[in-house]
Amino acid sequence: MNRQRWLVTRYYCLCIALLLGSSSLTYSAHANSETDLYLYLLPTSSSLSLDEAKALSNEHWQRQPLMALNFGFTNESIWVKIPLHQLPQHQRNDKWILELAYPLLNDIEFYRLQNDQLIKQLHTGNKVPFHQRYFPTPAFLFPIHYPTDEDWIYLHVRSDSSLQLSMTLQPEGAFWQQYLVRVAFSAAFHAIMLAMLLYHFLIFVFTRDRIFLLYSISICAIVMMMGTLHGWTFMLLWPNHPHWNASALLISLACSAIFTIYFSMNFLRLKQLHTRFYQLFLGLLQLSVVCSLGIFFFSYAVMIQVLAAMAIFICALALLGGAALWQFTRSRDVALFFIAITMLLLAFIVYALQKFGIIPPNVFSEHAIELGAIVLLILLAVSMAERHNRERQARVAAQDVMIRMQRNANVELDRKVRERTQELERLNQQLKAESTTDALTGIPNRRAFDQYFDHVFHSARRQQVSMVLMLIDIDHFKPFNDDYGHQVGDHVLFNVAQQLSQCVQRQQDRVFRYGGEEFAALLFDTDITGALLLAEKMRQRIEQARFEQSLQVTISIGIAVVVPDQHDLSLIYQKADGALYEAKEAGRNCVRYVDLSQQKSSYSSDYGVAADTPPNAR
Ligand code: GH3
Ligand code: MG
Ligand code: MG
Repeated sequence: MNRQRWLVTRYYCLCIALLLGSSSLTYSAHANSETDLYLYLLPTSSSLSLDEAKALSNEHWQRQPLMALNFGFTNESIWVKIPLHQLPQHQRNDKWILELAYPLLNDIEFYRLQNDQLIKQLHTGNKVPFHQRYFPTPAFLFPIHYPTDEDWIYLHVRSDSSLQLSMTLQPEGAFWQQYLVRVAFSAAFHAIMLAMLLYHFLIFVFTRDRIFLLYSISICAIVMMMGTLHGWTFMLLWPNHPHWNASALLISLACSAIFTIYFSMNFLRLKQLHTRFYQLFLGLLQLSVVCSLGIFFFSYAVMIQVLAAMAIFICALALLGGAALWQFTRSRDVALFFIAITMLLLAFIVYALQKFGIIPPNVFSEHAIELGAIVLLILLAVSMAERHNRERQARVAAQDVMIRMQRNANVELDRKVRERTQELERLNQQLKAESTTDALTGIPNRRAFDQYFDHVFHSARRQQVSMVLMLIDIDHFKPFNDDYGHQVGDHVLFNVAQQLSQCVQRQQDRVFRYGGEEFAALLFDTDITGALLLAEKMRQRIEQARFEQSLQVTISIGIAVVVPDQHDLSLIYQKADGALYEAKEAGRNCVRYVDLSQQKSSYSSDYGVAADTPPNAR
């Protein structure tokens, strides 16, 4: 921050020093070369003819050294007479050139009198078509060959712009030498400006960033204004339309002001940066637009003064505003921008002061705007490039953050999806288990039985081994329920289910609650011998069990043994059910079977009858 403040302070000091320096240097610079030459001046509001001017005695004329004279904006015209015979004798054999450097002089009448005889008369000015000039240059040049004794030049000059007489009289060789340097300087300036204009316009075309378009328009207006001020546009663009000079100057001056202010507001993003300064600049913009509209209603002579005054006012306000804004915001952009823009504004002030005749024209004040504009362009280009770079880096950083956030979000999403999938799988399995488990007894239910029956049946058929279906039914359970209540009945059902399940050891053999007080067992790869052994074990175990301390139930079992080949599922069930029916018929608490595995059907009447089987079951 301190460094910035120091920079800005140093910058302002430099500008003030330049301003003061340029005005004080003037006299010494010009007085050196033409010390010996004097002219006689006659400002006049009436229009004197050459003869009338000639007839005036010397006390009407002011004697001045030949140098830059500026009368500012004035309605008067000026008569000038230069005694050529004051040139030293040894230089009389040279060809000389008299230059009036300011290209906006409207009318110039040139007369050369030798021994009171008119030997040359020329009429020129920027209101005369360009091709009528003696020398085709933006400045007005007059040839003066071989001065003699009693040799006078009379000039009558008039202008709607500021009346500047930047006159030099030099030998032709020396003149062209320094004139070429000036042309080269001017060409370089315009080349730099045009290159910057094209460059920034192309950047606008590719980036569509409005700031570059505004910048290009500002440069364009400034180039046009400078080109017109220095007479290049008249020479190159509209040599046959001298009246366009006035309009071009007014319009380009107005556009320079309007677009530079508008560009500044956009560049600084004033609206977001500082409301009060935004309003100040908006006011300046409106003022410049309103003043510029005067072009359509008032004469050039009025408008050039209005616009020049407006430019000075805007410059002063913008300079103060800029410094204050920097104090408020302390932004690097603002500091750089105002160093750049005030350089140009200051250049305008120097130039305008010179036009008003407050400071005399010299190499600084003549080219102030060019110098200011080049510095401005370079600083602004650096500032814009730097800002562009900063914004690009910010964008890249933001993208990085976004990519990281996206990646984290993806990881988090993956984790959540995985968790959710696992949860769903777990719930699915739980649901599946619940849907195949009997709620009362906790053993597999009828649905599980159907699935497993199908599975065992097909496995046994594939492997051509026998399988067993056992149907187990509790005897007289209805009266049991009636006697002891449904709750006790449930308790017994639960315990019978546990006992039956515990009887089954092999992993592929399972017991199911088929429904009500009926159970089923499926045994894989088991023959009738194994089936009967297990059935008897079950029967005995239930018979011996005591529920609620003393209660007792028995079961009847029907068995079907098959090697599934020729048989279907329903037939096996029918056979087992038939065997169960037989067991009930035989008095209950006993086992009956159908063995289809040997292709023979038999009903055992006594196998599995336990010792304590009720007599009616034997
Ligand atoms: P049988 O020896 O001929 O099989 O006689 P049973 O009384 O057992 O025959 P039945 O099939 O007529 O009666 C079955 C009874 O089982 C009917 C009902 O009271 C009882 N039962 C069925 N399901 C349940 C149950 O979930 N809980 C209880 N407590 N009793 C049930
Ligand atoms: Mg039953
Ligand atoms: Mg029963």
